[in-house]
Amino acid sequence: MTNNINNENEIITYMHSDGFYVIRPKQLNIIPIECPICTRMMSDADDAAAYRKHECCHDCMISWVEPNLEKWNSGCRPLQSDVVAKRVDLTSRIIDQFLI
Ligand SMILES: [Zn+2]
Repeated sequence: MTNNINNENEIITYMHSDGFYVIRPKQLNIIPIECPICTRMMSDADDAAAYRKHECCHDCMISWVEPNLEKWNSGCRPLQSDVVAKRVDLTSRIIDQFLI
């Protein structure tokens, strides 16, 4: 396999072992299937935008990042017990809406 990295365009080009060229961006910016904070499935463009900016889903951005932006940017993350408690609270609110 031959690698050729074109730094000017941030593109990596290489010959695959099956004989074709693979051309891809150097930074793939892949959005994970689930939020690394709350493990909820990433589901829409708001989640993707929040992940690109803060590496979490949109709900976590609203719940954890925006009220604590300075701490978040310095690397602080919520306790897993707080994340679970928040998820249970949100789930019970949704269930209450359907029962009323
Ligand atoms: Zn999340």
